[in-house]
Amino acid sequence: MEIFFFAPHQDDELTNLGIELCRAVDAGHSVHAVLCTDGGASSVKRMLTNDGGCAWHAGRHHFTLSGAAFTAARDAEFTESCRALDVPEANITISPLRGHDGGLTKENALAIMREALRGYDPAQCAAVTIAPMPQLPQNPDHTAVGEAAKALFAAGACAQIKLLWEFILLPPEAERAGLRQYAPTPAQYERIKKAAAAYRRWAPAAGRYAVGYHSVADEFDDFLRTPICVEKGTLVR
Ligand SMILES: [Zn+2]
Ligand SMILES: [Zn+2]
Repeated sequence: MEIFFFAPHQDDELTNLGIELCRAVDAGHSVHAVLCTDGGASSVKRMLTNDGGCAWHAGRHHFTLSGAAFTAARDAEFTESCRALDVPEANITISPLRGHDGGLTKENALAIMREALRGYDPAQCAAVTIAPMPQLPQNPDHTAVGEAAKALFAAGACAQIKLLWEFILLPPEAERAGLRQYAPTPAQYERIKKAAAAYRRWAPAAGRYAVGYHSVADEFDDFLRTPICVEKGTLVR
């Protein structure tokens, strides 16, 4: 099948979708990664000017990036991460329809999905993304992408959707019994570690600012320590 992984932001393809993505690659599917926003609302943009400081590089950076340069830095992290996860180069997509970080609507996300699937047989297409959980403290862009996936399926535009618990909202381990959950194989874990390194790459002269790690270092570290993927629901036509 053609399996499309919709990442609301740069890093979601790894921490929230990465294990399932590795599983799809290893199962022999044609895997696609689609980025749905510009990631421009991150507080790291200000942190890079030393506004608020940085515990990691104390006093070492004074970079004032334009919005476009900051998004380009984040896109480079996303692309390198997708390559590490073995997404074919031609299937790594930064959607031309992507929304602004924090302002993605369900309609915008649905348009991104339809554009990504254009030209493919719906019967051969599946979509994977974060389960919408608006009752929890979920990033609104994550909710929008999850709701859009459900709408995509309801419209008959794909044969299957898989919605995953996002990592930071996972239920406690005791409550996960009975849910479909997966840990990466050792080989998958190697790819995941390599992808995480893309978000830690600090090479300002090359336009690389480790935005991912400046933003959510704890989340990356927790994910690498206990990598787990839990299904919330799968719909199959
Ligand atoms: Zn996100
Ligand atoms: Zn820093």
